[in-house]
Amino acid sequence: MEVQLAIKKLADWEIVNTEKPFLIAGPCSAETEEQTLASAHELRKIGIEVFRAGIWKPRTRPDSFEGVGSIGLKWLQKVKKETGMLISTEVANVKHVYEALRAGIDILWIGARTTANPFAIQEIADALHGMDIPVLVKNPVNPDADLWLGAIERLQKAGITRIGAIHRGFSGFDHSIYRNPPSWQIPIELKRRLPDLPILCDPSHIGGKRELLQSISQKAMDLNYDGLMIESHPDPDNAWSDARQQVSAASLQVITESLVLRQVKPEGINYDTLEDLRFKIDKYDNELLDILQKRMETAEAIGKYKKRANMTILQPSRWEEVVGNSLKKGRKRNLSDRFTSKIFKAIHEESISKQTTIMNGEPGVNGHIKKSE
Ligand code: PEP
Ligand code: MN
Repeated sequence: MEVQLAIKKLADWEIVNTEKPFLIAGPCSAETEEQTLASAHELRKIGIEVFRAGIWKPRTRPDSFEGVGSIGLKWLQKVKKETGMLISTEVANVKHVYEALRAGIDILWIGARTTANPFAIQEIADALHGMDIPVLVKNPVNPDADLWLGAIERLQKAGITRIGAIHRGFSGFDHSIYRNPPSWQIPIELKRRLPDLPILCDPSHIGGKRELLQSISQKAMDLNYDGLMIESHPDPDNAWSDARQQVSAASLQVITESLVLRQVKPEGINYDTLEDLRFKIDKYDNELLDILQKRMETAEAIGKYKKRANMTILQPSRWEEVVGNSLKKGRKRNLSDRFTSKIFKAIHEESISKQTTIMNGEPGVNGHIKKSE
């Protein structure tokens, strides 16, 4: 794909549902002019058309590298001139917006810490009022779909028409393999509420380490995301920020070429097959419900027996035998122990509840105990 095509796609905001994911790549931070240009040239060579580099860096701790500032805009302009790539950077306040617009930045993005702050977003939206520039909104650091949606709505109200979302994961307290756990249900909810909104995944900030980039990117493709924003650096290990999660252009190429792209409704495929499978699933679900009904009716009969015999409902040895046998039988049927024991636990709980009702009667209309026999 030619850069010219990317420009056209962006101009018409047609990055959704294209045959290829829309890719944005570049270093976490522009560090020096040489590093910025080296990164851009190697990325252009592997076909990347939209370059990213942070120049104002929102760092969590004060003693880390906070970006080169406005001088980086000149380096980005040089990237555009030398490679023809589109250039993008993060803006976090009104000053950034004005400087970026003046410098001819093609795409702006709003960082996760900024999206979490409605005052900051409103100021940025006011500064952008009526401007014709694509703006990508990263999810807020906290797992809140409404806050994300709210930021997008503020920009929409300012007349920005080309808005996209970037999913970069959410801060988590728990230890996790991820730097920012993805909580996929949140971007899915955003997409449900704004179905036409393009959504990109940023596996670099979700994963926090380069080994996770491929699997997170593939998951995003499986969920029909429109594109990816990935951090790439000419010398990843020596990057001044986010070194663990950056990859060389060569590694980035391996990752993007490994991605299996799926379609929502593939053409040329016989849909009857999928319909047949769904029909089968519905049939089995009905059979499952019939069997569960019979299972519970039998449990009720046992409840009546135990009541007459004045036996306890819970018979631990019998229950252990039932669970043990089911696990063994489940394994033979290729069902995991986790799944079998979950199902049987739920069945057992329901059985006990039915038998308890039989033993003690059930609450009547006025809250009085109604004897069931
Ligand atoms: C970044 O893209 O480099 C960045 C700072 O991201 P985030 O806002 O997702 O932390
Ligand atoms: Mn980064």
